[in-house]
Amino acid sequence: MIETGRLSVINPPREVPQFTPELLERLARRVSVFGPRASQTLYSPFDEGVLGVIPLCKPEDAYLAVEQARVAQATWARVDTRAKARIMLRFHDLLLQRQAEILDLTQYETGKARRDAQEELLDAAIVAQFYATRSPGWLRPRRTGGTFVGLTQTWEYRHPVGVVGVISPWNYPLVMAVSEPIPALMAGNAVVLKPDPQTAFTALWIQALMEEAGLPAGLFQIVTGGAEVGEALVACADFIALTGSTPTGRKVARQAGERLIGVSLELGGKNPMLVLEDANLEAAVDGAIHGAFANAGQLCVSLERIYVHEKLFDAFARRFVEKTRALRLGATLDHRSQMGSLTVQRQFDTVLTHVQDALAKGATLLAGGRPRPDLGSLFFEPTILTDVTPEMRVYSEETFGPVVSLYRFSDLEQVLSLINQSEYGLNASVWTRNLRRGREVASRIQAGTVNINESYAAAWASMDATMGGFKASGLGRRHGREGLYRFTEIQTIAIERLIPVTGPAWLPRGWYGRMVTAVLRAFKWLTRLWFRV
Ligand code: NAD
Repeated sequence: MIETGRLSVINPPREVPQFTPELLERLARRVSVFGPRASQTLYSPFDEGVLGVIPLCKPEDAYLAVEQARVAQATWARVDTRAKARIMLRFHDLLLQRQAEILDLTQYETGKARRDAQEELLDAAIVAQFYATRSPGWLRPRRTGGTFVGLTQTWEYRHPVGVVGVISPWNYPLVMAVSEPIPALMAGNAVVLKPDPQTAFTALWIQALMEEAGLPAGLFQIVTGGAEVGEALVACADFIALTGSTPTGRKVARQAGERLIGVSLELGGKNPMLVLEDANLEAAVDGAIHGAFANAGQLCVSLERIYVHEKLFDAFARRFVEKTRALRLGATLDHRSQMGSLTVQRQFDTVLTHVQDALAKGATLLAGGRPRPDLGSLFFEPTILTDVTPEMRVYSEETFGPVVSLYRFSDLEQVLSLINQSEYGLNASVWTRNLRRGREVASRIQAGTVNINESYAAAWASMDATMGGFKASGLGRRHGREGLYRFTEIQTIAIERLIPVTGPAWLPRGWYGRMVTAVLRAFKWLTRLWFRV
């Protein structure tokens, strides 16, 4: 039997962060508020002290921010894409230069470990470099096939949609302030971002840095507040990019549907990991640790259910438990701690409820399972459960915390069918030495990204490929061309030369019909040969 034990703990002297209270006061003044407003004191899950105070917007602030952004956008849309790219590349350099300050601030806002904050920073830099360098080519008018070869010239133009509303959660504040705003801005739009209030300072810091890099003031606005400010943004923006939970996604989609505006929705998941019988055991265990406990499990693509082939199950469970117990927990501004705190009280409550519910209904606890108030009020041990059954909440609901369930399987068809029963389809992970089989199995999993011999980072960081969800995990895609094109309106411009498509006026309709019929028959054969179908 595997016993649960105590995790290594770090209780360092509190280090001094690189950001100052004056910086936070300056950042708070950047919030788009248009009148006297209430304010909110933000507490840090990192050291439980007061972090700072931000004004809380009212819904009318969202309307006014969109109006101001619309004015700035009219000029921005005419700026050459290469000039926009130069601003984003300067932002990229400044971000890397000032990383110590923003890493500290993000850690204080979220309670996350240094390694998780660093993952955010690197991702933000990759996004800036990627869209700065690709957008000029991708946004150029594209020549397409015309009606009649030689007679019709057809082009697709991509225009900005106008003002993009970005609504984001608190789990990856640095990524969220960059990964939707940058492609939206590169496409010629203005952006109004509504972060979760808990992580507003990171978003404001990013906005200030973009302006320092050369982004015109007023083009990227930030409003603070909760659902009512988000609803106001959906009521007046021209496109909404939401990252959040599936219930919020449904509400936003309904509201956007009424207005016939576009949305992209990056929502929840219950992401599976599948360990096949020929997997490299140690690598799979390390992948499970990273996949389940990175950012204390508060990661949309993190792994919450692990299916291990019966041949490997016992050895996998033993090593997974050993390594999980050896994880170092704590709040440090360096890399000593491997897992940090949860970020918000409601997430802590969900984690605790899911674990208690599973244990009350007969699940077996292999590791963790307890809050750690000795480290901080929102710390929770990395937790491994087994003997989890469908009546337990943790079986199918997203936990969004450091809790993972282990299942044994013997039949691949059965396990694939179980995996695909979930209402979600965001990310999955397959472990095998047979890469051809791995791809075949991966393609049968209903998920927007599937990583082979990786938990989530290979697909996420492949910026040229899309990322998003099947089923209740979302609509639309971020990253790649899709991630840019969703923020554009496509316009087709066609030029007809010599004779009209419907034939010259002097040609009798009957003749025209016979001629076109002959042309279509010949054309079908030519295109079949060309496209080899
Ligand atoms: P949430 O849905 O409660 O809130 C997300 C954002 O939406 C917040 O800014 C919130 O103020 C706003 N909001 C809430 N109701 C709204 C409404 N009716 N209209 C407009 N805006 C509204 O989510 P959360 O609990 O803050 O974040 C955790 C969730 O986010 C998890 O489900 C997680 O899986 C998901 N997530 C998904 C991805 C992804 O890429 N798929 C990434 C990160 C997080």
